[in-house]
Amino acid sequence: MTPRVPTRAQRAVFLDRDGTLTQPRHYPSHPDELILQPNIGAPLRALQKEGFALIVITNQSGLARGMFDTTALYAMHNRLRALLGSQGVRLDAIYACPHHPEGSVPRYRFVCRCRKPAPGMLLQAARDLTLDLSRSWMVGDAPCDIEAGNRAGTRTARVGTELDGHPSPDVTGATTSEVLRRIGRETTSDHER
Ligand SMILES: [Mg+2]
Ligand SMILES: [Zn+2]
Repeated sequence: MTPRVPTRAQRAVFLDRDGTLTQPRHYPSHPDELILQPNIGAPLRALQKEGFALIVITNQSGLARGMFDTTALYAMHNRLRALLGSQGVRLDAIYACPHHPEGSVPRYRFVCRCRKPAPGMLLQAARDLTLDLSRSWMVGDAPCDIEAGNRAGTRTARVGTELDGHPSPDVTGATTSEVLRRIGRETTSDHER
């Protein structure tokens, strides 16, 4: 009998943008305002090599608030891809929620299913890219990131050490670099499962 390799949905690491991949900043609206967190290239490359899709999941209510437009958003996305690309990291996708119920731009002003803590962007990515959410991770610096991961059924990792009474993530660390390295250690044995 010919051995068959079963096709299996891919694992993903979902990454918040502001404060996780990039340094915290109040509503960045220009590519030059995005600065990568230190020492994230190597752990992201390691996760990529392990077979994880790397997917950005970001709330960008600045669009609903009229602080910048989609042209500026795409310029920021291109900048983020270039910054990571220069370190050998390739993003598989970027999902951004432009909505906010109290925004000033009518077409973005509603309660959507994608703004974190809602899990909509993760669920959409899982459909688009055939991902196994239960073997994936959501990484972020805010409680809404952890809640979105929980609601989508991923494992969760929180950057930062403040205890704020929100649901506990599976992994924590003081920096994004540290958190990504811990995820790598937690999952290197996944091949044998
Ligand atoms: Mg954040
Ligand atoms: Zn949305």
